[in-house]
Amino acid sequence: MGAGGRMSVPPSPKQLESDVLKRVPYSKPPFTLAHECGHHAFSDYQWLDDTVGLILHSCLLVPYFSWKHSHRRHHSNTASLERDEVFVPKKKSNIRWFSKYLNNPLGRVLTLIITLTLGWPLYLAFNVSGRPYNRFACHYDPYGPIYTDRERTEICISDAGVLAVTYGLYSLAVAKGLAWVVCVYGVPLLVVNAFLVMITYLQHTHPSLPHYDSSEWDWLRGALATVDRDYGILNKVFHNITDTHVAHHLFSTMPHYNAMEATKAIKPILGEYYQFDGTPFYKAMWREAKECVYVEPDDRDQSKGVYWYRNKF
Ligand SMILES: [Zn+2]
Ligand SMILES: [Zn+2]
Repeated sequence: MGAGGRMSVPPSPKQLESDVLKRVPYSKPPFTLAHECGHHAFSDYQWLDDTVGLILHSCLLVPYFSWKHSHRRHHSNTASLERDEVFVPKKKSNIRWFSKYLNNPLGRVLTLIITLTLGWPLYLAFNVSGRPYNRFACHYDPYGPIYTDRERTEICISDAGVLAVTYGLYSLAVAKGLAWVVCVYGVPLLVVNAFLVMITYLQHTHPSLPHYDSSEWDWLRGALATVDRDYGILNKVFHNITDTHVAHHLFSTMPHYNAMEATKAIKPILGEYYQFDGTPFYKAMWREAKECVYVEPDDRDQSKGVYWYRNKF
């Protein structure tokens, strides 16, 4: 007898099977599904998640396992200045010499154009904005510092997937012409990549979000140093990955279609620790690019490992 006097009836095998199938979100856009596969949140079967993830990522020219492993580390080290994997801000002493010349409207337009068009491939190929490793890091390199010995074979499989799709695109270009491939594949991919970079940048970059060094960082502090945004009508288009990222960091194996309900539930529990900013995304992009240039230790206690975004040179 269960709580409240109800008998708990075990589900029949048929019902279990249909529940599993219901969990497979087959009508969603590729990057939402691809991300889900990397978290083992797509189905109950690891092999199915990895197969679908490999196919979808390869079609977007992203090495699946390579990204899956670095993304897992992003989740386990969020907002750590030493160990987070992506959108890791630099301390003032480490920023490049030309950064101060880009901190004006023209420089900002240029930086945003490059970030939105090339940011994703630059991160994958050259670890731009990624974790500071002591040698060259690349998502396509099985022997790079991002990966452990156990992961190297999977990085080769991911590269093979990307190569196969590249060969397919080359064959299409030979058959249909380069212009056809650029219009049908290249331009849509650029648009997807631009939104992907913008959404993830804005989830992790905000003037009120702290970063931590290893003396102050812990997993929960890092997970709560993310911010939900409001993209208006586009929230629906992006299946609410825009306004449920805090919940995603707290429960990363939860399928995205439950994240709205989870967000509603965690808000009252987190109270002021739940971060939300309803600034329209295009204004937020401009403001964060202007204000979040580098990080400096908290003014009140320089010895503590809490860092905030600054932009003064
Ligand atoms: Zn994240
Ligand atoms: Zn994730």
